Amino acid sequence: MKFQAAVLRSYEDPFTIEEVTLRTEPAVDEILVEIAGSGMCRTDLAVRRSAGRSPLPAVLGHEGAGVVVRTGGGGSDTAINVGDHVVLSFDSCGHCRNCRAAAPAYCDSFASLNLFGGREEDPPRLTDATGKALAPRWFGQSSFAEYALVPARNAVRIDPALPLELLGPLGCGFLTGAGAVLNTFAAGPGDTLTVLGAGAVGLAAVMAATAAGVLTVAVDRHPQRLALAERFGAIPLHAATAGLPERIRRLTDGGAQYALDTTASAPLINHALQGLRPTGTLGLVARLHTALPLEPGTLDRGRSIRHICEGDAVPGLLIPRLVGLWRAGHFPFDQLIRTYPMADINEAERDCDAGRVVKPVLLPAARSR
Ligand SMILES: [Zn+2]
Ligand SMILES: [Zn+2]
Repeated sequence: MKFQAAVLRSYEDPFTIEEVTLRTEPAVDEILVEIAGSGMCRTDLAVRRSAGRSPLPAVLGHEGAGVVVRTGGGGSDTAINVGDHVVLSFDSCGHCRNCRAAAPAYCDSFASLNLFGGREEDPPRLTDATGKALAPRWFGQSSFAEYALVPARNAVRIDPALPLELLGPLGCGFLTGAGAVLNTFAAGPGDTLTVLGAGAVGLAAVMAATAAGVLTVAVDRHPQRLALAERFGAIPLHAATAGLPERIRRLTDGGAQYALDTTASAPLINHALQGLRPTGTLGLVARLHTALPLEPGTLDRGRSIRHICEGDAVPGLLIPRLVGLWRAGHFPFDQLIRTYPMADINEAERDCDAGRVVKPVLLPAARSR
């Protein structure tokens, strides 16, 4: 089967829209999804800085949503059928210790399944027009394409009445921010939170916190992003504010119970730790590229620091919860999205990099033909 996809051929060059060939039918427990929309996440763009670890040429995209057009059948308890509308999330093996403990984001095979080349594909399943192999699927998806062949395990069925093309980012970026608040911190009324960085992940955390009755302080350098955070219920605080930890402590009645870092900035992380109340917890979601020096005393009095992957989510539970919050008007993630025809993927990347758009969503053309 042949269809259009956005292919990344080198770490430096723009994406190219090409005809690709899918050389296999869905296997048992796999589904073929016609992609309605696919969000662009920082992790897609980070491939350019992966220094050879992410194999190319590749079809990226891991926030896809679409309609199931074929299934491979199988004994899967997910019971996904042709015609179902699905949001696609990250891949996991389903049988390691953490998967069995309902912590699929910490799957033993997470890196190999999602980041560094995916499942073994021999012979290759996806090739370019000349028959040359493309990298195995990215995050179990490769959804910057008109179609994606995915494990049924990663697909979450949703109500067909919902605006399908906008829902893909619920599978990664928005799930990450909201899950940190709702799952990891299990924050509720009376709790306090500092969010560092008001991008897609940080703003999803702000929205979820506001929905949960949490008092939130959002820290960023960009006035437009602070204005968004304020619109979604946070107290905005510029990152360059003098005495930042003291300001956070004053705004949160003695220190925030939780802090979420989406910036990987060591000075900001230290400030956030100093702005925590005793026993407070800081969660890290951004990838650190250097050592993280901590100022003396930042972890005193029971404070802790931990990494959070994919919002500690079981996608089949958190995505419907976020959809429910959105329907009730409490999780307006659609306000962060700008859609682009898939052919404009390079413009979408530039807008995302420059901070002009919080969440670009690419619309493959297949459904309009
Ligand atoms: Zn696993
Ligand atoms: Zn992502």
